[in-house]
Order: sequence, then C-alpha cells, then structure tokens
Amino acid sequence: MPSVRPNIAEMKGYTPGEQPQGVEKFIKLNTNENSYQCSPKVKAAIGHVVQAGLQKYPDPFATAFRIRASELLGIAPDWILCGNGSDDILTIVTRAFVGTSDMVRFANPSYLLYRTMAELQGAACDIVNYNPDWSLPPEFSQGNDWLRLVYLANPNSPSGTMIAPAEIAAIADVLPCPLLVDEAYVDFAETNCISLVAENEKVMVARTLSKSYALAGLRFGYLVAQPQVIQELNKVKDSYNCDSLSIAGATAAIDDQGWLAENRARILATRARMTASLREMGMQVVDSHANFVWCTHESIPVEPIYRQLKQSGVLVRYMLYPGWGDGLRITVGTDEQVDACLALLSGLVVS
Ligand SMILES: *Cc1c(COP(=O)(O)O)cnc(C)c1O
Repeated sequence: MPSVRPNIAEMKGYTPGEQPQGVEKFIKLNTNENSYQCSPKVKAAIGHVVQAGLQKYPDPFATAFRIRASELLGIAPDWILCGNGSDDILTIVTRAFVGTSDMVRFANPSYLLYRTMAELQGAACDIVNYNPDWSLPPEFSQGNDWLRLVYLANPNSPSGTMIAPAEIAAIADVLPCPLLVDEAYVDFAETNCISLVAENEKVMVARTLSKSYALAGLRFGYLVAQPQVIQELNKVKDSYNCDSLSIAGATAAIDDQGWLAENRARILATRARMTASLREMGMQVVDSHANFVWCTHESIPVEPIYRQLKQSGVLVRYMLYPGWGDGLRITVGTDEQVDACLALLSGLVVS
C-alpha cells in the first residue's frame, strides 16, 4: 500500500445518507431531496443540449447561469461562482483559504462534510456546540491566530433552525477570517444573507439547486461573494467544473420562479402538518425553516424507531452526534409519503 498523506490515512471520510440503487422500494425521506419532479423547462433545456451534441467543452464560467442568477439576486454576474453541486463550492472555498495546520470552525450539530473538508486539508477543527435553543454561543465569533474559515449552515441541518441575518452580520464583523454561509435550504426559509455579501467582503454565501429546485441528480451549486474573492476562487476550481447539461438545466430552473414558488408552498404546508402530528405523538420537534424536520424524544430511544421504519420501507436519517445526542431527521416529502411515515411512527412512538 503506497502511503497517502497522514491526514488522509487518519480520516474516516464522509458517509453520505443511504442511497439505495435499483428497485425503488423505499419511501426515501433521509437525504432532503425534493420528492417532486423538477420544472419541465429543465428537462426541455437539457434535451436541447443533448440534441445539439456534447462534443464541445462547456463554458468554464457558466455565464448563462450567472447572468440569469445575477438578475434574480440583484448583483453583477462577477459576484457568482458556479460549481458541481454546492459541495464543490465548499471544496473550492476550503482549498483556497485553508492549508495544513490552519484551523476552521463550524457549529455542532451541523453538516458533517465541514469536518471532512478540514481533514482533507490537514487542518484542525474548532467545533462549537449550539446552545440548547439552537442559538450560537459567543465563542463562535471569537478569533484566534490559526482560524482561516468559518462555516455556518443557515438554515442549519439537522435542526432546520436559523440564525438571523443581523446576527450573522455581527459575527462576520468580529471574525478575523471569511465566513461561509451555507444556504442549501434557504429557499424554504423567510430570510437570507445575500445582502451581507456587499456589506462585508468576508461573507460568502453558498447555494444549491439540489433541494429547492429538485435537482440533486444534476449537481449544480453556486457561491455569491465579492468579485475580488471570486477571482481568486476561479484559480482553484477545476477548469470545467460544471458540464453543459447542468449549466442548461440550472439556468432553466432558476428561470422558472413560478415552479419554485408552487413547490415551496406545497412543502411548507406539508411541513406544518408534519410538525404538528409529530408533536402530538410526543416527539420534540423544533420549528424548521428547511425541507426537513428534526425530531428527538425525551424518554424513548429513537435509533430503534429508525430501524423499524426502514424495515417497513421508510428511510429517514438517524443522526448521532457524540457528546451531544441523537435524533431523527425526516425530509418533508409528498403528503402521501409523509402520511405513510406518520402512520408508522404513531405505532412506534408509544410512551
Ligand atoms: C445538501 C447540502 C449541501 C450540498 O448540496 P449539493 O449541492 O447537492 O452538493 C450543502 N450543504 C448542506 C447543509 C446540505 O444539506
């Protein structure tokens, strides 16, 4: 076995949520995919690209997407960097700002990929636990000599909770390093941090089309940052990090804001109903601003509930955060999927 770098040898690697392939036998509520079909305009746009042929390299800067997105966001196109999913965006930002022996910070419980990103760089992680009410303690804003990048998922996963943009602006003002606000779920929320980017060059906002646009399979995400920051990040990305199909599909997707509004309304209605039912069963459910809900129980262990749901054909995400606790993160699917899950749960959560 040839030796890999020590930080690679020591790390575990990221474990994605289960993605059963082949026969679709599960009701899949474990990885926050959108249960609805994407806008038909996306499929048509991709079809046109296929028709025209794929012999040429794609636009390295996804200009069509950036122009359309810049109109929607009220910024210039040179404030946008596109990526092969927002995980690619996270990778680009991390590689640009974080080196061996540097330090990154993120909150816990949150998106587990932040740790993996740091470990790939051989960097240290400063992990700050959320307060019990999902607010952030003052340590989250404190600088030190090693800190190079702070990640913040907002809305957070697995909780679906949000830190108010004004508070994030205050955190960014105090921090000595960039703050990457990961807005993967922001289309299901009421506020966002885009306006903070113009106020503070340390603020970067990452978005994805995977969840709210129902395009997890397409792989498209983007970053909003000040142009001088984007220019540096462009040096780090792969030359052709977005393919022709994803650029066309993503551009058509954000062009169909009517589809987004309808889909969002449906998911928010289901989320409200789901939250109320779970609370009636005696689960603790924090108000969610995302397309999933986080459930815990005071006295009943939830891991067996996850396993029994799986046996009955419903996949949810069981999350265990060492030293913190565990819970079930359940994606807001269609009404039919959610009703099937709730019916099973009502038989399993008996106190
Ligand atoms: C799903 C998710 C992403 C990644 O999304 P992709 O664009 O599919 O790579 C990033 N951050 C958080 C918090 C997520 O939940």
